[in-house]
Amino acid sequence: MNQPSPSIISRDRHPISRRSLSPNAVKVLYRLRDNGFIACLVGGCVRDLLLGREPKDFDIVTDATPTQIKKLFRNCRLVGRRFRLAHLHFGEEIIEVATFRSASPETALNEPPEDGRDDADRDELHLRDDDGMLLRDNLFGTPEEDALRRDFTINALTYNIADFSIVDSVGGMDDLQHGLIRTIGFPLVRFTEDPVRMLRAVRFAALLGFEIEKDSWDAILQLAPTIQRAAPARLYEEILKLFLCGEAARTLQLLRQSGLFTALFPRFEEWMATESDGFPHTGIGRATAWVDDRRREGEPVSPPLLLTLMFGQYLAERSERLVAGGMPPQPAIHAATADFFGDLAATVRVPQRVCTAVAAILSCQGRFDRTPGKRPQSFVSRPAFADAFRYLRFAGSSDADRQRLVAWWEQHLAGVSPPEASVTPGPAPRKKRRRRGRRRPRSGTAA
Ligand code: ATP
Ligand code: MG
Repeated sequence: MNQPSPSIISRDRHPISRRSLSPNAVKVLYRLRDNGFIACLVGGCVRDLLLGREPKDFDIVTDATPTQIKKLFRNCRLVGRRFRLAHLHFGEEIIEVATFRSASPETALNEPPEDGRDDADRDELHLRDDDGMLLRDNLFGTPEEDALRRDFTINALTYNIADFSIVDSVGGMDDLQHGLIRTIGFPLVRFTEDPVRMLRAVRFAALLGFEIEKDSWDAILQLAPTIQRAAPARLYEEILKLFLCGEAARTLQLLRQSGLFTALFPRFEEWMATESDGFPHTGIGRATAWVDDRRREGEPVSPPLLLTLMFGQYLAERSERLVAGGMPPQPAIHAATADFFGDLAATVRVPQRVCTAVAAILSCQGRFDRTPGKRPQSFVSRPAFADAFRYLRFAGSSDADRQRLVAWWEQHLAGVSPPEASVTPGPAPRKKRRRRGRRRPRSGTAA
């Protein structure tokens, strides 16, 4: 599976030129090299440059220790308690510099442990829990060892500033050419060590349009339920990355096919399988396609909006049930949202402020139903308005009534007063009589 010795791809046989790198990264690489250290770009940036994509950030590995790095760079901050990394600050840009680390013993063996345990498991530098998950992984190593501890072959390529070559210790170039996501080492071991790697496999496959290699995919099918063992706060961050990577629709497909989606969102998945008015719940499919369109247009999608797009229909149904049981609409939305995210927190911990923002987006939809309603301007100035309006737009993409509401508010925002007749409020048009004489002057405008 892995190549025994690294293959070196010389400068004339690969497309990465120094001009395509961040000038700050080049500066760091040169300074390390000029001080006698090995210095290489590594990970996502090498992968992306080889694919002709723009890297998100530039990570460097070196044989200099964190203390030596700190001595070389005044703009250096050491971070990380478990494994010390150097962050070099250049204004907005941060270049991460890590010292070569060794792979865990089992990973290097490239075989599953015979009975799931051996002495290496007890090695306190690679501490695992009883199920084989890595809890600590902090031993300096050689460049080859550092490549072996990484997740996928395409993420383990390095660009060596000494001779501008690419160093490939694990067959990453081949997999890059064939469009394959393949774990380094035995997939069952690697996904057990860190279940989040399964989500990373899905993200890279979706983002790059790659296939997950068969053994790695089979291991994901088998281990999908173990994703629940990862830290809930980390899973929240991963979910955002997965659905905001620009390929949310494909991500969703892969998550569902692999069983990871059910493991992450069991209650929601159950509901998706049921029907409303004879139709299955396909809203999340449309939502992911809509998110991808926004990303392509360069429009940001905030975490609360993303979660509302994903779960809004479900939450609205649940709150309707509470309303049917006698609860007023606003508290019902807040209760349904709190209940859903509260339940989810054991697996995926959504921060409280984000849960509150989701409830706010959903509550605003009731106000849109009353368009034009009283004092539209004060509604527009609510903090939740922008995302609530985006959510209305999404709803409007498949519902003519909502689309008319979108049009009214667009005109309002553009400063044009639309004719009342053009507005057909949503499902439950309510006639509101304006009570004359009770209007308060807006604060600050009173004489
Ligand atoms: P992105 O473009 O999303 O930043 P990336 O590949 O750079 O992709 P990072 O999360 O920035 O991903 O991680 C940098 C590198 O660190 C990866 O390319 C990989 O080599 C290694 N890495 C990250 N997470 C893991 C993990 N969970 N297990 C093993 N190696 C990892
Ligand atoms: Mg990265």
